[in-house]
Parts: sequence; structure tokens; C-alpha cells
Amino acid sequence: MELNPFEVAKKQIDIVAEEMGLDPNVREYLKRVERALIVTIPILMDDGSIQIFEGYRVQHSTVRGPGKGGIRYSPEVTLDEVKALAIWMTWKCSLLNLPLGGAKGGVCVDPRKLSNRELEHLTRRYTSEIINMIGPDIDIPAPDVNTNAQIMAWIMDTYSMNKGRSVPGVVTGKPIEIGGSVGREPATGMGLYYVLEAMCERLKLDLKPLSIVVQGFGNVGGTIADLLYKEGCKIMAVSDISGGIYYSEGLEIDKLLEWTKQGKYLKDYEDKKYKLITNDELLTLECDVLIPAALENQITQNNADKIKCKIVLEGANGPVTTIADKILLDKGIKVIPDILANGGGVCVSYFEYVQDIRAYFWELERINKELKKIILKAFEAVYTLSKERNISLRTAAYVIAVSRIAKAIELRGIFP
Ligand code: NAD
Repeated sequence: MELNPFEVAKKQIDIVAEEMGLDPNVREYLKRVERALIVTIPILMDDGSIQIFEGYRVQHSTVRGPGKGGIRYSPEVTLDEVKALAIWMTWKCSLLNLPLGGAKGGVCVDPRKLSNRELEHLTRRYTSEIINMIGPDIDIPAPDVNTNAQIMAWIMDTYSMNKGRSVPGVVTGKPIEIGGSVGREPATGMGLYYVLEAMCERLKLDLKPLSIVVQGFGNVGGTIADLLYKEGCKIMAVSDISGGIYYSEGLEIDKLLEWTKQGKYLKDYEDKKYKLITNDELLTLECDVLIPAALENQITQNNADKIKCKIVLEGANGPVTTIADKILLDKGIKVIPDILANGGGVCVSYFEYVQDIRAYFWELERINKELKKIILKAFEAVYTLSKERNISLRTAAYVIAVSRIAKAIELRGIFP
């Protein structure tokens, strides 16, 4: 139960509903998703066999605007996981005050086991199956775990071919050459950086001497590790799905990124100074800032007690379960919640969407300036409310996000 992300997401709604005295009808409404589609994706494999994959697209709430949320390819994807991720997107877009709702998609597949042709066919068939549910005014997907700009290009092309015209605004996180935005790829990491910097300022901590541990070394984990490494922080450990590597004096992140960009695993990186560790060991290392940036449910009631850091910066969505969250709070660890910390990605996705619709593209300087403005405004509001009410940063973030959704429901009324 603790590890079903949909149950975690619903529990979080209960916690915030109590805190803000939310109308019980709205509370129950928010625990439901507006729409969920399950699709079957048959693929003719290179060896002539047919393999069947299952995919999902879920819209939790479009009360404040079209759905927005990534697509995940992973053998562990379930409908409940996608529902939870869609719920978290609703709160994230609301907290950042973007005119977008919450959605998410997933396909139950290990993309590493597919050839490039099979991956393209899977993506195009999945897009065809969900085509009536997506669109610039309806729901705009983006990359998530194991999906990237190339996959977004295939989605954009499949959608466009079906509509008979180019529709770049149907997805974000596309290659720049076909309507993508500068700054989108590192945006989540940039957002994490701005939020951590602001938090350190409040805690009167200097960023440079901090020791950092990062779980997950993909788009989010790799970018934030690199930004903090360049800032001069000591990145003591990083990990990917193969396991982690640790060096108390600090890892050379630039070299590790070169390595993993070739599709290689961290566990195979050869440097005698570096010690191989498991993902479980990595999470309990003593450090200043722990950044879970892989998957949900990494800090649970089983290991929360052993976490030894000052700040948990949630790069991933839902990395800390509700029970673990309470344990960390009691230990005095500051948890910067996912819907605030990793909001940089959806923020620049929103900029990409706006640029596509207007067919007018911005410079990187403007992207980063506006990203910083939006994310720091959200940080300020969350931090202030948490101090005023003596509540956790997560509860404060939820109070702000859920209040805006509840207001929108009240203003729009219940149809018919
Ligand atoms: P990614 O596919 O680029 O990278 C994921 C990383 O996690 C890889 O290094 C992978 O090896 C590692 N990993 C996968 N399974 C693992 C496991 N069981 N244990 C340890 N490591 C594991 O994905 P990403 O885009 O960096 O997303 C990471 C997290 O951040 C997800 O929770 C995602 O929802 C969230 N997120 C992503 C974005 C974005 O813009 N990409 C935005 C907001 C939140």
C-alpha cells in the first residue's frame, strides 16, 4: 500500500485537505482522474514475431488548462503509477501558476531491448492509439524516464501526418530543429539549481562547500550533478540503474557524463579511486544534499531513519513516501518537494508550447530568466507559507497548488 504511487498521491490529498479545510466533495473529486486510456500496442519485431505492449495516457485535471505531462517507457509502468504522476503534474502546473492541467503517459516496455526501428514503431503506434486524447488544446506530452527528443519528434510527426499539417505544439521536449526550445533539455536541472540556491540562502548555507549525493544520472540527475560540480560542490556519489559509484573527495562529473552519454553504465566506469555501491547504500550516505533523481518510492519507511543529510532535493517525482516524509520531517531534514523542485522542466515545456503556437522563438537568456522568475516566485510563496503556518514545505506547496485548483472548480461549477 505504502508503495503504490496512486495511494501515496491520494494520501497526500488527504493531508492537505485536512490542513486547508477543503470541501470534502472537492477532496473526493481530486482523488479521481478525469480520463484514463489503456491501449494495446502490437509491434512487428525485427525477428518477424509480434510482441504486444500496453500503454496508458491519463488526464487528472484540465480544469486550469490543457493536460501536460511526460511519457515514460519502463517495464515497471502501471496504470496506478501513471495516475499518480498525472496528479502530481496537476499540482506542479498549478503551483507554478501555468495555465495547464495534469496528465501523464507510459508504455510498459524496456526500450533498451528494442532496436531503433522497433522503438520508432512502438512510439508511432502508441501515438496513433492516443491521438484523440492529445493535441495543443487538449493534452501536450513531453519526455520522461527513458524517452527523449527523438521520441518526441516521432510523436510530433505521427500526429502531424494524421492531421495533414505540421503541429509542433502537440509535444514539448522536441529537437530544436522542428520547434523545440533552447534550454528545455537542462531545464529541470536548472530549476533544481535555482531552488537549492534559494533554500541555501534561507538556511545561510554556502553552496560551494556542500557535499552532494545524486541518485539517477539521466536528464535530471546528470544535469544537476553537472551544474553543482561546475559550481565547485563536491559530488560524492552518483548512480544509475546499474548501481552507484562513490568517492569521498568528489567524483569527476564531466568524465562520467561523457561515459554515460555513450550508453555505458556507471558500474563499468574504471577508476580505482571510485568505490562501487548499491542504490540503497547511496541513499544513506552522509552528505549535505541528497538528490533523488531516478524514480518514485526510493525513500520509504524502511530507510528514512538512516538518511543522513540536511536537505533532500526531490529531482524525481514522488521519491519520498508519505510515511518516510514524516520521518524526515521529525529528523529536521528539509525536503524540497518535487512539485516545486523539479518544476523547471514543465516550465520550459510551457515556454516551448507558447513559442510553437506563436511561431516565434526566444533566446536562451530569456528562457533562463523567465524560468528563474517563475520558479523562485513559487519557492518564495511555499517558503513563506511554510513559515507562517509552521508546516512542511511539501504541505505548503500542496496548499497553494490545491487551493488554485479548488478555486477553478468553484468558478467553473459542475457540468451540467
Ligand atoms: P532519464 O531516463 O533521463 O534518467 C533516469 C535515470 O535514473 C537513469 O540514470 C537511470 O539509469 C536511473 N534509474 C532508472 N531506474 C533506476 C532505479 N531503479 N534505481 C536507480 N536508478 C535508476 O529520466 P529523467 O528524465 O532524468 O527523469 C528522472 C526523474 O525525474 C523521474 O522521476 C521523472 O519523472 C522526473 N522528472 C523528469 C523531468 C524531465 O524534464 N525529464 C521533469 C520533472 C521530473
